[in-house]
Amino acid sequence: GKVAFIAGVADTTGYGWAIARELANAGATIVVGTWPPVLKMFNMALKKKATDEAKKLDDGSLMEIAKIYPLDAMFDVPEDVPDDVKSNKRYAGVEGYTIEECVEAVKKDYGQVDILVHSLANGPEVTKPLLETSRKGYLAASSASAYSLVSMVQRFGPIMPKGGAVISLSYVAAVRTIPGYGGGMSSAKVRSTHPHLEFKHAPAFCVDSHLLRPKAQLESDTRTLAYEAGRKYGIRVNTISAGPLKSRAASAIGG
Ligand code: NAD
Repeated sequence: GKVAFIAGVADTTGYGWAIARELANAGATIVVGTWPPVLKMFNMALKKKATDEAKKLDDGSLMEIAKIYPLDAMFDVPEDVPDDVKSNKRYAGVEGYTIEECVEAVKKDYGQVDILVHSLANGPEVTKPLLETSRKGYLAASSASAYSLVSMVQRFGPIMPKGGAVISLSYVAAVRTIPGYGGGMSSAKVRSTHPHLEFKHAPAFCVDSHLLRPKAQLESDTRTLAYEAGRKYGIRVNTISAGPLKSRAASAIGG
């Protein structure tokens, strides 16, 4: 069977989980990469009976996650991890979570990955308008949400077979302004459930948030990565522009 690595799963409400379920339905072995700060919580939730419903596959069996790897997509190699992260209690007891170490561990356990799913995004200043966003916050959003895909394709590429597939999740606002998003009635619901679109008091028609630019980068990078990794490894690289979903990330930002 095929091995699918899904980066960015920490609960049952996001896109990562839903994609994992569909791949499990199709018979793939599911392994996931989970952000260290939410790893313990996810492990605990998985043990609870209440999670069984979300695990249920089409044939009535329960999805098994073969292995959960800690993964912080902000860091490529161990040297990248700053001391304040190393000593942060949310990372206590967790090791080997840089992208390179994660790929090494997956390679050791499974030899190869047929399907790579990038289902993560983050931005420390996500609730701020661009006019108030710091350089640090801007670059951190790009690092976590866009460069993370580039780094993952660089490092997973060598352990993916020809014909393997990489997929990430984008959003339509990366390429198009959506009239009324800022304050229009029709958009109110979408805004309140969408992670990349706006804080509550946005001026009308302002669709900027510093997670939108990383999505534009992600889409542009996908084209280049498809070209380069297609030639180098014979793998496909695509992104899906997903609709609004009330995931944990979305709820945390949009309320
Ligand atoms: P989610 O909360 O289920 O997934 C985001 C995940 O990213 C979380 O598990 C979080 O722990 C993880 N993460 C954050 N920072 C990380 C880091 N540095 N390293 C590793 N993991 C990290 O929310 P979601 O909305 O399902 O998001 C999944 C993807 O779908 C994201 O790329 C998001 O932008 C995209 N998307 C979401 C929507 C929506 O409406 N929810 C719409 C279009 C696209």
